[in-house]
Amino acid sequence: GIPTVRPKPLAERRHSRQIMVGNVPVGGDAPVSVQSMTTTVTADVNSTLQQIAELTASGCQIVRVAVPSQDDAEALPLIAKKSQIPVIADIHFQPKYVFAAIEAGCAAVRVNPGNIKKFDDKVGEIARAAADHGVPIRIGVNAGSLDPRLLEKYGKATPEALVESALWECSLFEEHGFRDIKISVKHNDPVVMINAYRLLAARCDYPLHLGVTEAGPAFQGTIKSAVAFGALLAEGIGDTIRVSLSAPPVEEVKVGTQILESLGLRERGLEIVSCPSCGRAQVDVYTLAEQVQAGLEGLKVPLRVAVMGCVVNGPGEAREADLGVASGNGKGQIFVKGEVIKTVPESQIVETLIEEALRLAEEMGVE
Ligand code: SF4
Repeated sequence: GIPTVRPKPLAERRHSRQIMVGNVPVGGDAPVSVQSMTTTVTADVNSTLQQIAELTASGCQIVRVAVPSQDDAEALPLIAKKSQIPVIADIHFQPKYVFAAIEAGCAAVRVNPGNIKKFDDKVGEIARAAADHGVPIRIGVNAGSLDPRLLEKYGKATPEALVESALWECSLFEEHGFRDIKISVKHNDPVVMINAYRLLAARCDYPLHLGVTEAGPAFQGTIKSAVAFGALLAEGIGDTIRVSLSAPPVEEVKVGTQILESLGLRERGLEIVSCPSCGRAQVDVYTLAEQVQAGLEGLKVPLRVAVMGCVVNGPGEAREADLGVASGNGKGQIFVKGEVIKTVPESQIVETLIEEALRLAEEMGVE
């Protein structure tokens, strides 16, 4: 096979305890997992399962479904049974849905301490049911629904307030000997979010679920999440991630996966290294890169494909990649593993790159 370049991790991973979300380990030395949340009405079982199947195909490892009503709770057994990946039930107000989700075979339950005041006296029962079924709990604190008591104490959702809310809720579970917990402290401002997670990471050993809440439409949300997760993951903080976008959830998974690949926390899949183009370009780099990307979409191999617009940096970059092209004079020099294997007319660059990529993939034993 072709050796892939694996950058050294930027910092040693924080030592967190490990929990199991269904068959997916979270925390400890488990790889950082990518999760998302369905946007369908959960009670619409067919649509929900259809979306879960799409998410699974895009590389999502854990999926969360909202449970705001009795109908949704009643749909959980079938969803949990048919989903190919572990299902987390997201519950805000109703303790009875927590019990229903645990009984339904959900892999985990997310509760929000801000909305959970009436849960306080139920925690013992919840802890017992969860422990009996081997179901971990995510304590999911959200700036937008912070416990009113803490809002009053801190004036707004500061990192300290978010962390205090989470650890207070943890302490209620700990009183019952329950420590099968992961935590999130989400805020829409990446700076507040980063500081909250740093504080939390220093004050407990629970695995952490990273998220920037209400991150926004795809472009802004992608950048906010990449910046915030990047800062934390580079410090070794974070065990599972969810990118929140006002976009279809499959996009969240793609972004999450790309963030992990960019940090070397996940083996790279296909990577197109294309130049930004400049006044020297002798070919339309944007179109070329897009056509190559489209032609290789779905190919699950760690291939670096360089698409370069001219012969200044082109050959150098193309040589560093597994496969590449340096264009010039209406032709493309095609490189494989550092060697020019042929020069083709511009019109054949895309098909030649795709052909060679498929050949390399086959050599690597990938369909
Ligand atoms: Fe410009 Fe050539 Fe560099 Fe592309 S490879 S940015 S065309 S100098």
